[in-house]
Amino acid sequence: TYVITEDCIRCKYTDCVEICPVDCFYEGPNMLVINPDECIDCGVCEPECPIGAIKPDNNEPDLQKWLEINRKYAKEW
Ligand code: SF4
Repeated sequence: TYVITEDCIRCKYTDCVEICPVDCFYEGPNMLVINPDECIDCGVCEPECPIGAIKPDNNEPDLQKWLEINRKYAKEW
């Protein structure tokens, strides 16, 4: 899955949302998130983000926190 990280907070530039083939972007309280259960890992959103906030999940501990935030907001917000 791809994960949206802290750089997205208060950005909400939405080119990434429009390009996603499976429509798995959701709006969180102050940032966009990707639903990890719906993302098909195509990667097309990554270069669309002007601030580099979208990252592939590479099992880095730092990214796991954001993965959980994406999962939570995609379902609750
Ligand atoms: Fe959507 Fe592809 Fe980005 Fe996943 S990697 S969020 S499927 S555009």
